[in-house]
Amino acid sequence: PVVAGPNESDAIDSQKNASHAALDAVHHERTFQGHSMLAPFTSGCQQTEVEPLIIEKGEGIYVWDHNGKKYLDALAGLWCTSLGFSEERLMNAAWNQMTKLPFYHSFWNRTSQRPLDLAKELIDMFKPVKMGKVFFCCTGSEANDTQVKLVWYYNNALGREKKKKIIARQKSYHGSTLSAASLSGLTPLHTGFDLPASFVLHTDCAHYWRYHLPNESEEQYSSRLADNLEKLILKEGPETIAAFIAEPLMGAGGVIPPPATYWDKIQPILKKYDILLIADEVICAFGRLGTMFACEKYNIKPDLVTIAKQLSSGYMPISAILLGQHIFDALASYSNGLGTFGHGFTYGGHPVACAVALETLRIYKERSILVHINEVAPIFQTEMKKLASSPIVGEIRGEGLVLGIEFVGDKKIKKSFPAEWGVGAYFSGQCTVLGMLIRFAGDMAMMSPPLIITIEEIHEILRISAAALKATEEHVL
Ligand code: PLP
Repeated sequence: PVVAGPNESDAIDSQKNASHAALDAVHHERTFQGHSMLAPFTSGCQQTEVEPLIIEKGEGIYVWDHNGKKYLDALAGLWCTSLGFSEERLMNAAWNQMTKLPFYHSFWNRTSQRPLDLAKELIDMFKPVKMGKVFFCCTGSEANDTQVKLVWYYNNALGREKKKKIIARQKSYHGSTLSAASLSGLTPLHTGFDLPASFVLHTDCAHYWRYHLPNESEEQYSSRLADNLEKLILKEGPETIAAFIAEPLMGAGGVIPPPATYWDKIQPILKKYDILLIADEVICAFGRLGTMFACEKYNIKPDLVTIAKQLSSGYMPISAILLGQHIFDALASYSNGLGTFGHGFTYGGHPVACAVALETLRIYKERSILVHINEVAPIFQTEMKKLASSPIVGEIRGEGLVLGIEFVGDKKIKKSFPAEWGVGAYFSGQCTVLGMLIRFAGDMAMMSPPLIITIEEIHEILRISAAALKATEEHVL
């Protein structure tokens, strides 16, 4: 069934376009058969004749496909286009830099001005602890792979050759390169790829609603997880554990905010055993949760931070690591002894990407993006959470402008629907038909709209979500 809300002209259009589009979206069997590209994170690559959704243009928080259908992009691309799809200042920043110096690298004591400016700006912006240096990469995955190498190098510098294991969390997402996929706690990233690598250990996913014991408070649950972490460290031997990596609020694993006191209880354990804390802020940084960095919100004092995505509003591929002075000091003296710091990427600190990122950060400041987010986000959260009264919704959770919905077949016992029903996919398909793009994974649906979203556009998300939910209920009940 395809249900259109009363004012959904796009939905009515798509109904007119008859069953092809509806089937296509509903079953999510888009495929790249007949195209030469191997598509990332795509199921059924070879199976059906249905076309992929080809996005052709964007304006504000909307995108259009190659058939002219308009969608509200409630995922901001891939959690990244914070300033929407048509910010001219970013285009001009890229153009101006392109015409002056389109490329320069940062190897062997050569560099260009923009990465130097951006590094300084990021150090100034990051308030939870004073960071020492910034290292540029192009993607979140590359940055997290680099985190592993920095942590190993650091411990070699300190003569702690055994201290190399990294603890990550189940359901986390840290990227898809060798180390980043290993750190990630999601099975599809491992199966068939001979991963995770043996230096990675996974501890609990901090999801109170799903995993707490009967009568266990959030605080007690956090204490139990902290105890489990300590037990894992002691079992492996603290002298073998180098770092703990986590997203302050878990993103792609289902948008899972930390339970109360979680970060207060995890951090002292890391300190006790001299384990570095890597905060993966790839989704959270730059206002997504209503603070510039999630570390501010949860009082996290990391040794290393990964940022990407909203750093350039997704307009250019750029990521960065912020590293504490203590890490840098060890790296510097060690590499002096070795002769070189043998790590870097051709495009790390790309001047065009850095120019766009600098302009993005300027816009966040000039337009008081945090003030705007904190005006609109409470409406988004409060109104969306009302949909949790649906008989097929177990939990709706989120902070700021990021939100997750988890569907359940039995609310009382939080029993999931049979996987083959594809309930998350069905809901997402209905949203697509109704003119809104979201992300689904199993029985979860996720949204992270552009930060510039207006109240009116939030109401559009609410209308489409309610209609898609009604259609999903009718489909499964
Ligand atoms: N870390 C987190 C928390 C992410 O959400 C992602 C991507 O979604 C990554 C790392 C990987 O980033 P990229 O896709 O740029 O490699």
